Order: sequence, then structure tokens, then C-alpha cells
Amino acid sequence: MVAPGRSRRPGAQGRTTRLADASTCPFCEGHEAMTPPEVQAFGRPPGAPPDSPGWRVRVVPNKFPAIPGQEVVIHGPAHVLSFADLSRGLLRTTADAWEARRSAHREAAWTMVAVNEGPAAGASLDHSHSQIVPFTDAPPAVEAQAEAVSGECALCWALGVEDARTVRHEDGLRTIAPAWSRFAYELWIAPDAHAADPGWSQLAEALADGVRRLRAVLGPDLAWNCVVYASPAGHANWHWHAEVWPRLTVAASAELGAGLWITIVDPDVAADDLRTAVPADPPG
Ligand SMILES: [Zn+2]
Ligand SMILES: [Zn+2]
Repeated sequence: MVAPGRSRRPGAQGRTTRLADASTCPFCEGHEAMTPPEVQAFGRPPGAPPDSPGWRVRVVPNKFPAIPGQEVVIHGPAHVLSFADLSRGLLRTTADAWEARRSAHREAAWTMVAVNEGPAAGASLDHSHSQIVPFTDAPPAVEAQAEAVSGECALCWALGVEDARTVRHEDGLRTIAPAWSRFAYELWIAPDAHAADPGWSQLAEALADGVRRLRAVLGPDLAWNCVVYASPAGHANWHWHAEVWPRLTVAASAELGAGLWITIVDPDVAADDLRTAVPADPPG
């Protein structure tokens, strides 16, 4: 449901402010002892010991896992707060880490790659990072998608219909503001081709571009979540996509009780705003 009038409610545009405090940040370079021992690191010179400085991207067990085996990917040694502000090189290394951890968990029924940015999106630490979550059984959202994309693929069909709401189209990869958005300015990133798994580097670039556009329209303190729906085990016939959910409003009784998602911004308007947004140049 689209209900634009609701954007005038007090607090509907409220955002949280994040404090940058690198001196106590467990994810900053030099603070390796503040995390559990790393499971993998990228960019450290050969022969350097684990849990020492000199890395580019570091993967550590989540200290407070919701799901056993949950890991955190730390996006770079410096205290950068937004995925949108990572350099091209760091985006590539982060993408390498996502791909490597998906392979490492190939025994899992499905491994989620997700980013939570900002307290309103559930991030407890400011330093840009992502979550790797291996599930022993495919969760309900993945089961539902398996039905939708096998056989006559709903996403192949939908991408044709959503052409007018395309925000970015590069390397066969589309960023759209779908008509079925649950959140205002929701974005989906999906390939034109019916492909089971992403080119991770292109996905990271497209996500950073999407977040830069969102911040250009909605402000730099925007909180958002992203979940990558890459293929679950045993599903070669799959159409991967990523969903980005800006957290401008809070789900209430209509959403939680009736299952009706009310968005305060028409997806056509969102697509126009984001297409014409001029994101700041990516660093590096
Ligand atoms: Zn930090
Ligand atoms: Zn498809």
C-alpha cells in the first residue's frame, strides 16, 4: 500500500545520529585483540601472523551470534561508517570475502550475506561491516523464493514489468525501485539473466552506488539493511537478487498484524528521485 500523506507524521522522517569513536572500536586496525580470533583475513603480507595489523578485510566470528556460525566481515582497517564511502579496492576485497565465506559454508542449506547499517537497522557497531549467516535449514523467505523462481521465473517476468522503475542498469545488472516495495525507497539489485549467483564485485559496486543515491536523497545518517539472496544449496535453478530496505519508518500493527506493508513514497517517485540523484564521487 502506498500512503504518501503519512510522511508528514511527526517523527516519520526522524533519523538517528551515530557517534564515531574509533578509539574503542573493536573493528579498527590495531584492535584485533578485541574480537574473537579471526577465521580469515585478506591483504596481510604473506607470513604475517593472524590477528595482527596489516589486513584489508578481516572475517571474525560474531561475538553474539543469533545463528550458530555467524561471522562478521569487517570492511577495511579504517573507521569508515558507511558502505557508500568504501574505496573501489575495498569493495572488491569485501566482495572476495563474501564469495570466499559462501564457499567455506557450502555445507549450509543457505548462507546469507547481509549488511545492517545504522542503529535503526540493527547495527550495534558503527564501523562498516557485513554479516555471514549459515543456516542449517533454508529459512521461510528462501523456501518461498525457491517456489517463485523455479519453473516459470517470477523475477524474470517482473524485471520486464519494472523497466520504468530502473534506477541504474550496468553490466547486465539492474537496480530497481519495485512496485511491490515494502519500504519507502526500497531497492532491488538483480541481473537481467536468470543466474544463480552474483558476480560479487559487480554486486558490491551496485550496492555502493544504490546507497550513495539513497544518501543523496535521504541524508547521510540513513539506516538501511541489505540481504543478498544468492542460491541455496542444491538450487542451481535460481535467480539471485539483493534487497535494500531503508529504515525511515517503523513497522507497526498494519505491517506486523495484517501483513500489509504501507510505504510513504510511491515507488515511481522513488525511482525518479534516485535516478536523478547525483551521488558524491566514490572515494579512491
Ligand atoms: Zn572502527
Ligand atoms: Zn529468472
